[in-house]
Amino acid sequence: RHYLQRIKERDGTYNSYITVTEEAALAQAEAADQRLAAGDDNPLCGIPIAHKDIFCTTGIRTSCGSKMLDNFIAPYDATIVENYQKAGAVMLGKTNMDEFAMGSSNETSYYGPVKNPWNTNCVPGGSSGGSAAAVAALLAPAATASDTGGSIRQPAALCNLTGLKPTYGRVSRWGMIAFASSLDQAGTLTRTAEDSAIMLNAMASFDAKDSTCVDEPLEDYTAKLGDSLQGLTIGIPEEYFGEGLNPQTAERVQAAIKVYESLGATTKSISLPHTHLAVPAYYVIAPAECSANLSRFDGVRYGHRCDDPKDLADLYKRSRGEGFGDEVKRRILVGTYALSAGYYDAYYNKAQQVRRLIKQDFVDAFNQVDVVLGPTSPSPAFEFGAKSDDPVAMYLEDIYTIATNLAGLPGLSIPCGMVDNKPVGLQLIGNYFAESKLLNVAHQFQ
Ligand code: GLN
Repeated sequence: RHYLQRIKERDGTYNSYITVTEEAALAQAEAADQRLAAGDDNPLCGIPIAHKDIFCTTGIRTSCGSKMLDNFIAPYDATIVENYQKAGAVMLGKTNMDEFAMGSSNETSYYGPVKNPWNTNCVPGGSSGGSAAAVAALLAPAATASDTGGSIRQPAALCNLTGLKPTYGRVSRWGMIAFASSLDQAGTLTRTAEDSAIMLNAMASFDAKDSTCVDEPLEDYTAKLGDSLQGLTIGIPEEYFGEGLNPQTAERVQAAIKVYESLGATTKSISLPHTHLAVPAYYVIAPAECSANLSRFDGVRYGHRCDDPKDLADLYKRSRGEGFGDEVKRRILVGTYALSAGYYDAYYNKAQQVRRLIKQDFVDAFNQVDVVLGPTSPSPAFEFGAKSDDPVAMYLEDIYTIATNLAGLPGLSIPCGMVDNKPVGLQLIGNYFAESKLLNVAHQFQ
């Protein structure tokens, strides 16, 4: 009731929720009460959380931030939604997001932009900006989110939160609407690393319904939270501190490095030589995969359908023309072009080869260090409209986060001080399935 009341009073300002599920929340809270009374000791039992509107929820609209799915009610729950239900968590509602998770500012949502609670003239980041703003404004204690190229970590940085993108395959994506399937990963936005560990404990499961889900043993992600950092080696990639990084952001990150040294960690300068190729490779691969994934929205089976189609081609054209926004159309066009006959080898294949080199950079790095540390995004939150007319400027927001998705590694952003009263994020990248260690490295800083 406390959170529902706060949402009512304040979300008119932030626009962080697309749908508030008041009735269901009260019923779930009631059920959680009974479970607690019966001795249930799951730490999430009775804890309210919000789900990004990319996760399917039975009987409740799942819009993915798009007019295309404004009327879509999924007939099933995403596996992670089910996992949180099993843990006894209470769903407050579905959070706002960039349309089909494409964006870094939450300005492409059909439901309007989300405001950054730290400065309402500024964007909260994207595409999980609604989840980030909801947690930052205390309209939810924690939220689920998804990260294809930075969509958990960049909004975490801009809203002073902890954002975790687990290893590709650690968390089921069944029921998470697909954007770029070889990159998409579900994760969490919370205030602290300890909260992230608790959330990941419930979220992670092996799921035969997602063929990319890896059957690795599950861990208690809170178990290592007390470990000392003595003997830990942190790699600092020189490429993450070059041109384009705001000098004050760099200062905050340098100060964090000193904190880690004082905690007993050793720092080591490393090189990730293919870093400059991450954004170009991503903006071939992600649009290519999105053009294939989004072909299912054809006005026939579900989603928006135009009025009075003349024939089948007209139905496809107008339904898609009316249902998708500009950024989604831009990606579909780029992706279709990159995959078309005669161009496939030049663009898509080449990008996949570059992706392999980017992954190898990290494999080499993790032969020398335990975690990699750098900034999450090049500068703090920017004002609405500042980058929306310049897609390339917007794409560069993810210059430090995208390589992690291309390599499939776990990444995390934690608060690291302020610049001009705006939050700065510190990024930590771990080796495959090293979430426990990564969460402890974050926890020790907090
Ligand atoms: N900002 C990136 C994009 O627009 C990443 C989005 C995401 O991680 N979902 O594609």
